[in-house]
Amino acid sequence: MSAPTPHVLPGATLGVIGGGQLGRMFVHAAQRMGYFTAVLDPDAESPAGRVSHHHIHTDYTDVDGLARLAGLAEAITTEFENVPAPSLENLAVARPVAPAAASVAIAQDRIREKAHFVRCGVACAPYAVIETAEQLAAVADDLLPGILKTARLGYDGKGQQRVATPAELAAAWEATGGVPCVLEKRLALDYECSVIVARGQDGQMVHFPPQRNLHRDGILAVTEVYPGNIPVGQAARAIESTRAIADGLGYVGVLCVEYFVLADGTMVVNEMAPRPHNSGHWSMDACDLSQFDLQVRTVAGLPLSTPRQHSPAVMLNLLGDLWFVDASDTTVEPPWADVLALPGVHLHLYGKTDARRGRKMGHLNITGPDIDTVRSTADFAAAVLG
Ligand code: ADP
Ligand code: MG
Repeated sequence: MSAPTPHVLPGATLGVIGGGQLGRMFVHAAQRMGYFTAVLDPDAESPAGRVSHHHIHTDYTDVDGLARLAGLAEAITTEFENVPAPSLENLAVARPVAPAAASVAIAQDRIREKAHFVRCGVACAPYAVIETAEQLAAVADDLLPGILKTARLGYDGKGQQRVATPAELAAAWEATGGVPCVLEKRLALDYECSVIVARGQDGQMVHFPPQRNLHRDGILAVTEVYPGNIPVGQAARAIESTRAIADGLGYVGVLCVEYFVLADGTMVVNEMAPRPHNSGHWSMDACDLSQFDLQVRTVAGLPLSTPRQHSPAVMLNLLGDLWFVDASDTTVEPPWADVLALPGVHLHLYGKTDARRGRKMGHLNITGPDIDTVRSTADFAAAVLG
């Protein structure tokens, strides 16, 4: 158990494990409030490390690096779920850490994650755990066609294989090296949505309006948030389920839960992320408090307040593919000036030096007076970017 979080006020240093774009946006939010920041990430060029006051270049399990982080930072958070849970436990001895190692450990493992959802009374897609050859042989036929997902270390569709027959399933499991997996039934999705909550040490919880998300090739491409983006009843159910999942964890921090909605209106939970989420980036320009502002408040033990959306929003992810003009390996900077000529466009780039196909390089938030205007600007921006 970590100690109760005291208020850590501006002027103090906040720490974050992981130096990716989510850490960078946390650092920006913390600095705007007057905090100093410390990032622990082995990569000297990490997006967050480059904008932080302190950057500790060690591995996430390095005892000396963790001790330096605990020495500098009065409260600590994480920006990606694959931070080894023992590192968070180690830090929590010295400093308040949010989210707690126990929550992160559940979110890191699809098997434990699904068990938690079921415990909270939230239905998942039909699934089977595959950890042994016996479990593989016992898989019910009605889970096929399905998606085999490794229990650990998947993101952006990585670690997933589509399988249609028992033979394909067996080959796919073998291809993982026989690591623990879940087989999920492949569902015909009407749409996908997600809900982000921030929960404080005292159990106070606030949420953002549900996000409607479009994925391409397993990677988030577009998020839309406006009144009516999701039928009211489904939105209420997603919010209620997310709050139950966060309460069930005794969660402290920002948590995102993703849902699938089927044609008949059935809603099932997909997965959760114990941190701010790509589908919440719209909040940076369309709300009075962003998901990163609320992350700062949860880790600092400060009061939360319900974020108010002041504009409809569309978020377009900017993947490295946009830097490639043809089939060659030559990269060209996209035409930002042309995109910025459009009204209500907010460009966020993460400072990553090399573009790679499928790599998240930044995002565009588009705001405007109504969703039709915002959408047509988003269409223009997408066309300009090719
Ligand atoms: P990741 O951890 O890579 O985000 P997800 O489990 O969220 O993995 O899967 C990525 C995307 O793949 C989902 O957002 C969805 O579009 C699609 N997908 C995943 N599982 C299913 C499923 N059981 N049925 C249909 N589509 C799925
Ligand atoms: Mg996902």
